[in-house]
This record gives sequence, C-alpha cells and structure tokens, in this order.
Amino acid sequence: MIQDCLFCGIVAGTVPSVKVAEDDATYAFMDINPASEGHLLVVPKRHSTDLLEISADDLAAVTLAGQRIAKVAVRALGADGVNLLNCCGADAWQTVFHFHLHVIPRYVDKERDRLGMPWVPTPGDREAIAAAGATIAEALG
Ligand code: AMP
Ligand code: ZN
Repeated sequence: MIQDCLFCGIVAGTVPSVKVAEDDATYAFMDINPASEGHLLVVPKRHSTDLLEISADDLAAVTLAGQRIAKVAVRALGADGVNLLNCCGADAWQTVFHFHLHVIPRYVDKERDRLGMPWVPTPGDREAIAAAGATIAEALG
C-alpha cells in the first residue's frame, strides 16, 4: 500500500469503486471514464508502478483475471469483441501509476463504444523495422 496512490486506495476500500471481482492477488472495478460499455480495470492488490516493475506472479494473476472477466463480460453484455490494454509510462498514456489492465468490451454499435484507433497503420520503412528488431533481439541475448 502506497500513500496517495489512487488504486491502492480503491483496493483498500478507502476510495469508492464499483467492484466487479476480486481474488487473493487482484481487484477489478469499473472505469469511471468508460471508453465503451463495460470498460473495467484489473489491478494487482500489491502496489507496482507499471509493466516494467510488476512481479511475474502479479502480472500473471492480473492477466489471467483479465481474461476470465473478459470472457464473461463479452457474453454478459453481448459485446462483439474485447481489447486488453496496458499503458506504461506517461508518454505511453499512463495516468495512474499503479499497474492496471484495461478490459474494454467492443461493439459494432458505436453508441456503446467510443474507442478509436489512435493511429492509421501504414507500412513502415523496412530497414528501420529490421534495425529496431535487431536491436531488441540483440538486447534479449
Ligand atoms: P491509464 O491512462 O492507462 O493510466 O488509465 C487510468 C484509468 O483510470 C483511466 O481510464 C481513468 O478513467 C481511470 N480512473 C481514474 N480514476 C478512477 C477512479 N477513481 N475509479 C475508476 N477509474 C478511474
Ligand atoms: Zn498503488
């Protein structure tokens, strides 16, 4: 538990939330600014800042809880699909610095779904793609 962490407060119950599920390691609750009908967040109960810091055990627990809840949410809400999203770092759109996985049910019906692609995929430069791939593969060893 980190003082002044919003999601630690939600896990502890000192900050209100619309709870969806919980288990020993995770807590799931509705997002207050939903991108679609049913948009929720899954967090580890133990504080970690982001994807780069979270332990393998907590990451596995959050991911498995996210999948379990996504399956049920899609069926219960009649969604047409679902996105799982994590933002890591302010420049990657992270605004709350307690790791969280967004579970965002998706709908053909745009009245239920406000989420859009933030970029239009266009072919990249082949040499630049290969160079970045080589850098990452080499760093992985
Ligand atoms: P991110 O930008 O990936 O860090 O996502 C943070 C998310 O937390 C946003 O989608 C917010 O709408 C959501 N959020 C912020 N405060 C609360 C809150 N008190 N209860 C539920 N969701 C929240
Ligand atoms: Zn926290």
